[in-house]
Amino acid sequence: MAKYIVVTGGVLSGIGKGIAVATIGKLLSTNYKVIVIKCDGYLNVDPGTMNPIEHGEVFVLDDGAEVDMDFGHYERFIGINCKANWNITSGKIFQEVLNNERKGDYLGKTVQVIPHITNQIKNTIYELVREEEAEIVLVEIGGTVGDIESAWFIEAVRQMKEEIGHEDLINAHLTYIPVLNTTEDQKTKPAQNDLALLREKGINPDIVIGRSVELLTEKTKKKLALRSNLDVHDIISGKDISTVYEIPIVFESEGVLEIIYDKLMKKKSKYDYFQEKNKVGEQMARFKQLVENIKHPSKEVTIAICGKYTGLKDSYASIIEALIHAGANLNVKVNIRWIETTDFEEGKLNIKEGLKNVHGIIVPGGFGSRGIEGKIDVIKYAREKNVPYLGLCYGMQLAVIEFARNVCGMINANSTEVDPDTKFPVVLLLPSQKEVYKKGGTMRLGGQDILIKEGTKAYEIFQTDLIRRRFRHRYEVNPEYTKRLVNKGLVFSGKASGEDIMQILELPSHKFFMATQFHPELTSRLEEPSELFLEFVKCCLK
Ligand code: GLN
Repeated sequence: MAKYIVVTGGVLSGIGKGIAVATIGKLLSTNYKVIVIKCDGYLNVDPGTMNPIEHGEVFVLDDGAEVDMDFGHYERFIGINCKANWNITSGKIFQEVLNNERKGDYLGKTVQVIPHITNQIKNTIYELVREEEAEIVLVEIGGTVGDIESAWFIEAVRQMKEEIGHEDLINAHLTYIPVLNTTEDQKTKPAQNDLALLREKGINPDIVIGRSVELLTEKTKKKLALRSNLDVHDIISGKDISTVYEIPIVFESEGVLEIIYDKLMKKKSKYDYFQEKNKVGEQMARFKQLVENIKHPSKEVTIAICGKYTGLKDSYASIIEALIHAGANLNVKVNIRWIETTDFEEGKLNIKEGLKNVHGIIVPGGFGSRGIEGKIDVIKYAREKNVPYLGLCYGMQLAVIEFARNVCGMINANSTEVDPDTKFPVVLLLPSQKEVYKKGGTMRLGGQDILIKEGTKAYEIFQTDLIRRRFRHRYEVNPEYTKRLVNKGLVFSGKASGEDIMQILELPSHKFFMATQFHPELTSRLEEPSELFLEFVKCCLK
């Protein structure tokens, strides 16, 4: 029988619900099989077609799903591979209900939010939990309580608590406690109203997490406890910290595990509890050391991320995390310099100035033509000046274009994504994409095998000839041109198995010049950093 923890949030969006869920999941995953279900209110069936500027990075799962970036937090913290159907959107639920209606499943009935939409939500969750044989199910309800578009999810989880029982489903609510400059007092009124709103929806929380600048005062905790029919011990602080990786440490010391065991594992003995808690402590030891390294690094490097969505850092969330992971493991702070490559094209910034004192360069994934000439110039600079370069997806395709143009003499070589009539289409549409017209979940997506060539830098890094990493692309290095590129010194050290798709390239003569068609950043974790990012940052330090 699975145990459920439903997490809602209020007052403001963006106060760290995803991290709170990931944290609770991390602490419980030592002893239990944890899954996370994220319910998003929007009507997109999945976030794959949403602009990263609006919604942050599209996270890609191993099974090929394009999901909300919160899944990145879950995977990084809990160390699990999440799956496509763990992300439930209103779009998905409505689509299913409408399909059922057209099939005649509800013949004669008026199809309504309650019970049809809510039943669809509950059944989807129950089915999933059964399929996964989960022991702990974390359910995150996106947005804030009171949002029209999350109303049906809130109602569904309210019903679930009655169906499953209060000992097997608990509610954690994340709320916000502002501090006014003038009084420096923690203000609980917004949270009180927020808790009242939650109660109005029929939910009384079992745990309240108060996000605030500092730890919650006893007075604040008492007020919140009173307003939510709880004990002071059930109120925990979600204090602002310099790194999100410190949250598990804060939550642990605030006693979140005790509260959960107390409410959700009533049948366990004190002995069981202490044994399990000790195991969590053991698992956290190395994690805590890495967090220490993040907070007190002994060295620094500066790495430029040259892209086109640099205005919203969330678009590159996983890259930032992968750099933090590599840095923590090497005990160095990685400073990121954000460079909008259109600035080079528009003459607002010159490359030498922009990349002054930079120890390494990343060109991340991207789409379309905006900013790409600037990126190509950056890659040329990295190659010629022997500055460590890591290209991710588009960053690999553009490295090939740069090499074709400037080393192989193929004037105006390009990707057909940018110039369909280019004389040298060194990057072109994957054959499997030719018949694809629909957008949304149609790229070459998810985990794929990569064969690594012995005797290459990639082999040195991965120490194996077969890895699996995640992809999200439509275009590839044109196999008809690889010979010409290789003849001039480019090495393709990773290829798809069974297909002629180039997946890793490197320049042996260079200090570090590597690029991948896959996204190593998606599977990097603090305790298991991406090997490529690790080696890249190491080279930047030299
Ligand atoms: N636009 C390129 C492609 O579709 C690269 C995609 C990416 O960087 N994720 O292949």
